[in-house]
Amino acid sequence: MPQRARKRETRKGNPLIGLAIFLVAIVGAVAIILFAGSLGQANVDDVKEDGKVRFIRPGESLAMHIHAGVRIIINGEEVKIPAGVGIVGNRERILHTHEPNGVIHIESPVVRDYTLGDFFKVWGMRLTDSCIFEYCNNETHRLVMLVNGVPQENIKDYVLKNGDSIILIYDEISNLA
Ligand SMILES: [Zn+2]
Repeated sequence: MPQRARKRETRKGNPLIGLAIFLVAIVGAVAIILFAGSLGQANVDDVKEDGKVRFIRPGESLAMHIHAGVRIIINGEEVKIPAGVGIVGNRERILHTHEPNGVIHIESPVVRDYTLGDFFKVWGMRLTDSCIFEYCNNETHRLVMLVNGVPQENIKDYVLKNGDSIILIYDEISNLA
């Protein structure tokens, strides 16, 4: 009888070891899934270099190709976005312009959000929620933005969408009313 009891005890021990191995395997699998997830995230964030949206790499396939129109009117005068913003030699950044018609091309290897601020960084021009170029909100002047006719609070972080018609207006408050 004592022998049988001992056997039963050791048998009881074995399932615990099995459970421990099972738990280690589960933790390992979760770690691998999290690691793979973080790798995927790294690829998504791999679209910026030096704080600017990077160049499209040779032979890179595009997951996203959309266009947004941007007009800028400062104190009643239109400021044209030039052709070739984001283009150096034969290299194009993910955000670029081909013609001086205000059409921003977004040609991206991954589907993700690109903001108006991202485009201004590529252009090398200042844009915040209260300033465009050297023109900032003050007692008499305001920067406002309309997208498809609708005023927007967030200017710099506005996510560009296909077919958007964006107008940035900086003017005297009395002219904006
Ligand atoms: Zn395009």
